[in-house]
Amino acid sequence: MQTIQNIFPLLDQPRKVVITMHQKPDGDAMGSTLGLYHFLNKFGHSCTVISPTNWAGFLDWMPASDKVLDYEAQTAKSDALIAEAEWIFCLDFNVLSRTKKMEESLLAATGQRILIDHHREPQTSVFSYGISDIEKSSTCEMVYDLIVDSGHIDLIDPVIGECLYAGVMTDTGSFRFPSTKSSVHKMVYELKERGLEHSHVHEQLFDNFLESRFRFIGHVLLNRLEVFYEYNSALICIPQADLIKYNVKTGDTEGLVNYALSIQGIKLAAVIIDRGEERKSSFRSKGDFDVNTFARKYFNGGGHFNAAGGFNKEPLDEVAAKFKAAIKENMAQLSTYQF
Ligand code: 5GP
Ligand code: MN
Repeated sequence: MQTIQNIFPLLDQPRKVVITMHQKPDGDAMGSTLGLYHFLNKFGHSCTVISPTNWAGFLDWMPASDKVLDYEAQTAKSDALIAEAEWIFCLDFNVLSRTKKMEESLLAATGQRILIDHHREPQTSVFSYGISDIEKSSTCEMVYDLIVDSGHIDLIDPVIGECLYAGVMTDTGSFRFPSTKSSVHKMVYELKERGLEHSHVHEQLFDNFLESRFRFIGHVLLNRLEVFYEYNSALICIPQADLIKYNVKTGDTEGLVNYALSIQGIKLAAVIIDRGEERKSSFRSKGDFDVNTFARKYFNGGGHFNAAGGFNKEPLDEVAAKFKAAIKENMAQLSTYQF
């Protein structure tokens, strides 16, 4: 994988471009791909953003989100664009399997795959160019760096600013995680100088939910939360029937894991959801407990040191039992509470 700087001299030569992200995109995935989309369009590239799956309704306000293709719903059109593309930007994921059904087409593509990502252990062998930096707060910060380092900071407008701000704000937990280095605040300063209306982004992301989501959260916190104080751990296990009963939509479960993590003394929090085709898990930790390794070891997943995810094919009760066995196995680390 060559460094991303090698594409800077080529930016002003229009190309066919596909920009993609991980399945079930979050604010950082959608914000970084759309931020890059608006930037590349200024050079006359012919760009299409493709999401491997559908996404949460609370991302639909983002400028040009209505032009994003959903690979599962528009497979033939997406496959044709991927096959034709000269550049395929892969944003906010480290391994192609994070694009689920799109992986095969991405691997078969003859265009150059370009990685921009901040997750651990990237699959560098499948990318021609790229940048992977686990120190970065978000992929949006990395797209901002690309714009600045390629000498084009003056092309940042309020539209690019909104997209990039959405991702950096959500991936840093509203600027609270340790990944929020001074470079993040400097970036926000520059976006504000170029017309960003940050309150609008917060309102769209956090004051835009349906009542049913809060009824669902109430139910989950009352009936599905288990706390294991001897292991400083908490688990929320959600059967598929709950998702149906409360009409849960993509994105409605996002952030649920943070309730469990915010209980006093909790060092490891997990949410395991029965999504039908698989049991999807989310892990968060505080301090020195590495959930990237934890997710890799027991749940076929990965991610960051303090935020990771995974999936299992076994039934929900077996995955829950796996989690309970895993916290026992990691008791030595979990029972010491060090920050
Ligand atoms: P979330 O819990 O918000 O879905 O994901 C937390 C972090 O872990 C994200 O950075 C996400 O990209 C990563 N992640 C989530 N699920 C998986 C997975 O199944 N495999 C891998 N490798 N990473 C995941
Ligand atoms: Mn991210």
